[in-house]
Amino acid sequence: MATPMEYIKSKIRDVEDFPSKGILFKDLTTAFKDPRALHIIGWDLSQIYRDKGVTKVVGIESRGFIGGSILAFELGAGFVPARKPGKLPADTVRMEYAKEYGTDTIEMHRDAIGPDDVVVLHDDVLATGGTMAAAYALVKSMNPKKIYINFIIELTALNGRAALPADCEVTSLIKY
Ligand code: AMP
Repeated sequence: MATPMEYIKSKIRDVEDFPSKGILFKDLTTAFKDPRALHIIGWDLSQIYRDKGVTKVVGIESRGFIGGSILAFELGAGFVPARKPGKLPADTVRMEYAKEYGTDTIEMHRDAIGPDDVVVLHDDVLATGGTMAAAYALVKSMNPKKIYINFIIELTALNGRAALPADCEVTSLIKY
């Protein structure tokens, strides 16, 4: 029988040339729709942070909302969305960041994180790290006690870790 990790991997779908030519897209929807794979992902993510006093999980729009919510629930923490601009209804803070072509922006509610919070920042995939680096800077500006960074999948060839702060603990469940 496959180990839990082999089982999750067997449920991740590779899609060639999505969203553009030359990209091998790691599609987690095929793992999320599988009850056993979803359960293992939630369990394995939460094991990393069991004793760390996490109070908030920040999920990055949109695929980070899925694993982030599960992780928050498992840890008994709250969930906070980091969203594309113009989506959040109340007062926000924002961070602009460079993409391959042009720039992008992420926003969070200004009152989402406080000085007593221990935060896990979560996204599904670490590619170049640009998105997560911006999310980290945004959360850092809210002065929480501690920030951890987490992914389900890390694409090691793209060396996204180099874009992330060296003093922050970064973990991923699966490395390709
Ligand atoms: P990056 O800022 O380059 O680290 O890109 C991260 C974001 O793009 C994440 O939110 C991922 O969901 C998505 N992403 C980038 N590359 C891939 C890929 N090869 N497969 C799946 N998702 C990807």
